[in-house]
Amino acid sequence: MNKKYLMTPGPTPVPEDIRSEMAKPMIHHRTKEYQAIFKDVTEGLQKIFKTQGDVFTFTSSGTGAMEASIVNVLSQGDKIIVVRGGKFGERFGDIAKAYGVEVIALDVEWGTAPRPEAIADLLKKNPDVKAVYATLCETSTATMYDIKAIGEIVRKTGALLVVDTISGLGADEFKFDEWGVDIAVGGSQKGLMIPPGLAFCAVSQKAWKAVETSKLPKFYFNFKKYKKAYIDTDTPFTSAITLVIGLKKAIEKITAEGVDNVIARHRKSGVAIRAAAKALGLQVFSKSPSDGVTGIVIPDAVGADNVIKIMKTEYGVTLAGGQDTLKGKIVRAAHMGGIDQEHVIEALKAFEAALAKLGHKFTSGAGVEAAKKVLGV
Ligand SMILES: *Cc1c(COP(=O)(O)O)cnc(C)c1O
Repeated sequence: MNKKYLMTPGPTPVPEDIRSEMAKPMIHHRTKEYQAIFKDVTEGLQKIFKTQGDVFTFTSSGTGAMEASIVNVLSQGDKIIVVRGGKFGERFGDIAKAYGVEVIALDVEWGTAPRPEAIADLLKKNPDVKAVYATLCETSTATMYDIKAIGEIVRKTGALLVVDTISGLGADEFKFDEWGVDIAVGGSQKGLMIPPGLAFCAVSQKAWKAVETSKLPKFYFNFKKYKKAYIDTDTPFTSAITLVIGLKKAIEKITAEGVDNVIARHRKSGVAIRAAAKALGLQVFSKSPSDGVTGIVIPDAVGADNVIKIMKTEYGVTLAGGQDTLKGKIVRAAHMGGIDQEHVIEALKAFEAALAKLGHKFTSGAGVEAAKKVLGV
């Protein structure tokens, strides 16, 4: 195997046709040419988020848009509920605290999704809560949350629902308008197949009302500045022109295939990898697995770090390990964006080879076969 397979949950591989677009000569952003590109990208993002509302594009990593989703709708002393079931839920809480927002944490066991009723209970007990912050795919545990069910609860209250879809967008099903989401946060380097550097916020009408009363300090990420520029299909500051041009190509690919077909393809990859893990006698870490990234528990005798090292050095397949308490316990394989089914099969071959080398007992080829059966190849 001489290809390199980047199967980490961000960054993800950037397909060659997108890279070629980004290699073209620089253009200026205050031009009709760029405005047309930016308009297409914004409309494409609306299709992917499934919203008729505003979608803003920032030059930052995804965390910048997480911060934007806090500073634009809250004031100091406001109370929010944050679902904490992994590193990224924790980050929402940490950003909020940095701005003097009071965080009511809903701590859920890592690898599980929050029970929607638990959110309903917390909202009942704390009627003054301004917003609920949750994650579509908690990447650190490869777990998908039931945002649709959470949306049904939150939309009946005065609180906003803010969802981090940075790794879930374009991989796990997501419907901004239909599910009653108020702000969705996205990033460029995961399911959208472009390099790190762009972040997005989709914003509902209900969220706009909160923008009007928000008093937290903000400058670069001020939604109002973006809204004002947006009317002229422009950005308030210099656009990350090259990345936006790459994103235009990525969106063309996604919309040509169809957003729902892209999601269905990710589901198939997720089911295939989970079937492979089972066939190899291994456990999937999450009880509510994402279809864009899979966490697999590696027995101590084999060692997750050993698997990662062998796969990278001998087979060119880069996986991610576990974070915090999951360090050395799990491997995480992303199968989102530019990772296609062929990558999945090749990675599973390398995974089997690494497991065999490390003395794990299984029927050779069983994982690859199980995955192929699901994928129909
Ligand atoms: C990757 C990721 C982030 C962080 O994004 P950065 O681009 O590193 O700032 C936040 N949330 C989730 C769910 C992620 O997967």
